[in-house]
Amino acid sequence: MSIKRLSPEELLALDRFAVDEGNPHIVVDKEICARCSKRPCLVVCPARCYQLKDGQVHFEYAGCLECGTCRVMCTDLGVTHWNYPRATFGVTYRCS
Ligand code: SF4
Ligand code: SF4
Repeated sequence: MSIKRLSPEELLALDRFAVDEGNPHIVVDKEICARCSKRPCLVVCPARCYQLKDGQVHFEYAGCLECGTCRVMCTDLGVTHWNYPRATFGVTYRCS
């Protein structure tokens, strides 16, 4: 029996997301982010929910893996709310 080694992208593609539309479990303050100089969220989020567009940090919670890294690493308190999604919402991990 052989075990296929999957890339991070292939592993992420296995996940399923139930998005709680209009009720984000993470809230980011764009004005605070605009003044933030280091912006570690752009590199630490494994799902790339934080993206730089036109010089501004944009956040999309739909693909969040609920790891909590941005909550810990946010240097300027731009993450004003962080919680797990409500029951039945959020990510479901699958192995294959
Ligand atoms: S909790 Fe993790 S996956 Fe979700 S936005 Fe923060 S760093 Fe990204
Ligand atoms: S680290 Fe925090 S304050 Fe800075 S850009 Fe990212 S979310 Fe905004």
